[in-house]
Amino acid sequence: MPSMPTLLQNPPNIAQTRRDVFSFERGPLSLSAADHARIWPYMSNVYSKRNTEKPGPNTPWKTHYYWCRFCRQPDAPKALSARTDNRNVTGRKHEATKCDAKIRILEYPDGDFEYQPYNGFPYTYTLDESDMYKINEAVKCAVEVELEKGHSAKAVIDLFLSRGKNGCYKETEAARGKYLERSLVQTWKQKLKIEARIANPRKTKSYRD
Ligand SMILES: [Zn+2]
Repeated sequence: MPSMPTLLQNPPNIAQTRRDVFSFERGPLSLSAADHARIWPYMSNVYSKRNTEKPGPNTPWKTHYYWCRFCRQPDAPKALSARTDNRNVTGRKHEATKCDAKIRILEYPDGDFEYQPYNGFPYTYTLDESDMYKINEAVKCAVEVELEKGHSAKAVIDLFLSRGKNGCYKETEAARGKYLERSLVQTWKQKLKIEARIANPRKTKSYRD
């Protein structure tokens, strides 16, 4: 039986912080470098990086531009609402959620960060829909740690989604990883295996499937 994952230690108030970074209803956010490093992986399913502007003569900070992942065209007419609690649906498609939301993150010379919305707000859909669409990096990294120990995709899914003593559903739900699917975890496991083989072709670690 896998032991409790140690990496899924959510920052305090992560749910509210995620809502703030999603909606900006409470305005721009200022974060220390340490808080930025802890919180941003929880938003990776919502925003993807476009580019970074170097500091200029009048702007001694770096500006990182991020676009909402729904800035691209929807793939297929599949209602996200129909997917709630349907863990075995493959593919994470979005419909009618084409979105122009863009944010910028200013990285100041002193190491602080400021998150600012600059286009396309407010959203016409929910954070939950973004969470259904893609699993965030914070959850993915915690899952990968367990996979690297050699646990099967099924065992890892049980661990993260079980509400019993041997599971950590509460933490997974707080991190918004409740839409994890076994097929997805299996894909991550395959990828880790390939990476392990490339990194260490002679001494291949044995993984269980
Ligand atoms: Zn959006």
